[in-house]
Amino acid sequence: MQSSVIGKVEKAKLYASEPHRMSFNDFTVAIKGDNNTHTVTYKQGEWACGCSFFDTWNWCCHTLAMQKILGVMLPEEAHQPEIEPV
Ligand SMILES: [Zn+2]
Repeated sequence: MQSSVIGKVEKAKLYASEPHRMSFNDFTVAIKGDNNTHTVTYKQGEWACGCSFFDTWNWCCHTLAMQKILGVMLPEEAHQPEIEPV
């Protein structure tokens, strides 16, 4: 393999080990719940989920799960710490 290619692969490994370098701006994800599959979106700083709990509370287990998975890869304002269970 060419050394420049090896360099790119090494850099990819480094970036992959440093998730704080990434910041999701928007995404759509399907989450298989126990009963149904729900679509969660994060777009322009706003969360949305197709489940009925989200309709009432503006957060749900699906949006919280994504915040836990993505962690530092979400901008600060994407986290909803005020609703973290104590
Ligand atoms: Zn939900």
